[in-house]
Amino acid sequence: MSKIILTGDRPTGRLHLGHYVGSLKRRVELQNSGEYEKILIMIADAQALTDNFDNPEKIRQNIIEVALDYLSVGLDPTRSTLFIQSQIPELTELTFYYMNLVSVSRLYRNPTVKSEIQLRNFEASIPAGFLCYPISQAADITAFKATAVPVGEDQLPMLEQTKEIVRKFNAVYREVLVEPEILLPENNACLRLPGTDGKAKMSKSLGNCIYLADSPEDIRKKVMGMFTDPLHLQVSDPGHLEGNTVFTYLDAFCKQRHFAEYLPEYSCLDELKEHYQKGGLGDVKIKKFLNNILQEELAPIQAKRKEYEKDISGVYNILKEGSEQARSIAAKTLDEVKAAMKINYFEDEALIRMHSRKYEN
Ligand code: ATP
Ligand code: MG
Repeated sequence: MSKIILTGDRPTGRLHLGHYVGSLKRRVELQNSGEYEKILIMIADAQALTDNFDNPEKIRQNIIEVALDYLSVGLDPTRSTLFIQSQIPELTELTFYYMNLVSVSRLYRNPTVKSEIQLRNFEASIPAGFLCYPISQAADITAFKATAVPVGEDQLPMLEQTKEIVRKFNAVYREVLVEPEILLPENNACLRLPGTDGKAKMSKSLGNCIYLADSPEDIRKKVMGMFTDPLHLQVSDPGHLEGNTVFTYLDAFCKQRHFAEYLPEYSCLDELKEHYQKGGLGDVKIKKFLNNILQEELAPIQAKRKEYEKDISGVYNILKEGSEQARSIAAKTLDEVKAAMKINYFEDEALIRMHSRKYEN
């Protein structure tokens, strides 16, 4: 079976460090590994509209931002297909057919959707489209027969839902759909990078993000204002690592060589942590260290972004061509799905012959 990747992001804002460690970095590695026959990267505007239907301008403005972020981290349009979800009507059609395979109570049980409903104050009235977005994600993944989906931990329930739909479809109709495998970040700190405010997840909707395109000065300010340990009041106080966002970010970004470069009085992260826990190490020092690391990681990404920003119509063209390519793949799967579901009347000559015979006399 060919190895295919499908993944994507909602154009609800520019992409941030959570996306970078949770999914973007991995995508670029997978793209560059040459092991995959197809890599499809989707800007999920239709999904973003399920909870932003009344603010279409926000989605419209952010398509180009997400595309620029993609290109700046090293997604290469000659090797990966970058496309826009709403331009592939086949995805909407698949979603509608898959809806028959999922119960409403199953949708309510999805833990990610549950917490998102709370966050968006949808408890009293949930748009049906929002409740069903895990089904539309199953359509996105299966339309391309993706075998692997590199995403952050919050997407686990979506992948579970997709697998259930695949199994049910294949059992009820015919073996057409492919069960995908989730590729979670290998580094635990990257599974769900917390926000700069220490909240569970860095998320565009929570406004606690360091964006890939933030200016060096904004990054510095955000790092210096990051949540650490509220009990660590004096430098001499013992500090705690649990829930300490700066240390979580160091777990996610720090490499051995950073010590020689920016903090030579320590040899490794364990030594730094030990000192912090003992007391005598100030937050400012570790924040400056983290700032240096992030600035180094983001500088080449920002330089690349500036290059692409000079040719915006070229970037739109990349998305247009990518959408055309993606559409032709999804259309093939939809044909197979419709044939399996027996709704391919005009291609089914046997059916027409049978009915002709039935009414022969
Ligand atoms: P929104 O608030 O609009 O939902 P978001 O910041 O959650 O935006 P998404 O577009 O929903 O971003 O997520 C895109 C991808 O990035 C998914 O694979 C998701 O798992 C991953 N991701 C998002 N936030 C994080 C995070 N904080 N840590 C790790 N991965 C993340
Ligand atoms: Mg999200």
